Amino acid sequence: YGPEAGGGTSPEKLLVPVLSAFWDRPECWTLDTYREHEGYEGLRKALEMAPDELIAYVKDSGLRGRGGAGFPTGMKWQFIPQGDGKPHYLVVNADESEPGTCKDIPLLFANPHSLIEGIVIACYAIRSRHAFIYVRGEVVPVLRRLHEAVREAYDAGYLGRNILGSGLDVELTVHAGAGAYICGEETALLDSLEGRRGQPRLRPPFPAVAGLYACPTVVNNVESIASVPAILNNGKEWFRSMGSEKSPGFTLYSLSGHVARPGQYEGPLGITLRQLLDMGGGMRPGHRLKFWTPGGSSTPMFTDEHLDVPLDYEGVGAAGSMLGTKALQCFDETTCVVRAVTRWTEFYAHESCGKCTPCREGTYWLVQLLHDIEAGKGAMADLDKLNDIADNINGKSFCALGDGAAAPIFSSLKYFREEYEQHITGRGCPFDPAKSTAWA
Ligand code: NAD
Ligand code: SF4
Repeated sequence: YGPEAGGGTSPEKLLVPVLSAFWDRPECWTLDTYREHEGYEGLRKALEMAPDELIAYVKDSGLRGRGGAGFPTGMKWQFIPQGDGKPHYLVVNADESEPGTCKDIPLLFANPHSLIEGIVIACYAIRSRHAFIYVRGEVVPVLRRLHEAVREAYDAGYLGRNILGSGLDVELTVHAGAGAYICGEETALLDSLEGRRGQPRLRPPFPAVAGLYACPTVVNNVESIASVPAILNNGKEWFRSMGSEKSPGFTLYSLSGHVARPGQYEGPLGITLRQLLDMGGGMRPGHRLKFWTPGGSSTPMFTDEHLDVPLDYEGVGAAGSMLGTKALQCFDETTCVVRAVTRWTEFYAHESCGKCTPCREGTYWLVQLLHDIEAGKGAMADLDKLNDIADNINGKSFCALGDGAAAPIFSSLKYFREEYEQHITGRGCPFDPAKSTAWA
């Protein structure tokens, strides 16, 4: 995709603004604006159904978790045992931290009531009386806005006791994390919420069986829950009319990097990067796409050969990567791939929680080797060592962070081995660092 490309796709045809429908309105985050756009109508519809009927409805819609793994949302709700006598919890994972991912935080900032409405609906379905939103601690303005929206919802009777006269009680607590990437892993998040150091727990048992305070817990991503009111308002058939059979619906894509108009683009699952770039004004003028990530740095990178891969779970999977968080980071020909991979690997080494050896030691070793290669002190044997270490992390670590750290190593060696070799034979980076703006 270069400067001559673009212009082929009409944005009006592909964009499906649902969650982002009124982000351009003044005070779009307020309850008044939300109510002008069918706000809390989905909740009224949900309360007319029995909880099991509601779960079946969400299951039939085909909604899949938008946090990265794509697990079916309705099925997750169905796992919660009924009549077990234990409290049930809903925990919303708003600890969005995957590099390049920027969809939940803008959604919380611009349209917090869609999440709050989705939370009340989900609590009704899984028979929970207490929900938590675990928010990435660094985003203080988002936290303030969320607290304000929760207060508005309590005052209007959408939270608290006897919601809309239905007999449903839901309390909602907003909790700020302290800035650790690992706390986005659902079980580390639960430990952190309980006041402990955030480190992943062994699964199984999955949170649906033993989650928060060892009780059945649904952990869902912000976008997944916020999508539920729109599904109830417009119908499961409407939702299924977008995307593909196995990956239906609309979603938020984060388009970033060397793109003319980076930002959040809301459209059906299954569109392609070429179409998104057309909508985003293409690559910055005069430059060509070199490599990109389909779902943040934890997903194997793609090149311009993959511009027409459908951005859904099956399409991206068949092409050798993962859809992940739909964070499309695009890099042009001025970017040194070794530099980009080094930067990502430093991130994983820094964020490794240290619980398991392959990730704790392996990410540190990867960084040492990459620094040597970048500084012109590498040897050809280092490339096999990189591959070997990544292989000893991948699938052998305690949680998905380890696999994520291995992904950019494998894929960059697969597509850009020559560029690594140039660093070794040329005793340094062939790119002028001043011209490489990828991580400036
Ligand atoms: P996973 O596939 O192991 O699990 C996905 C969800 O399904 C979890 O909630 C899990 O509890 C549930 N689940 C799976 N099997 C189950 C079973 N048998 N019974 C009950 N529940 C079950 O994925 P994961 O390790 O939770 O997450 C990995 C994903 O996280 C990656 O794909 C990555 O894209 C994403 N990620 C996102 C961010 C972000 O900022 N949003 C950051 C890092 C990683
Ligand atoms: Fe911690 Fe890394 Fe092991 Fe995950 S893979 S438990 S982050 S050390």
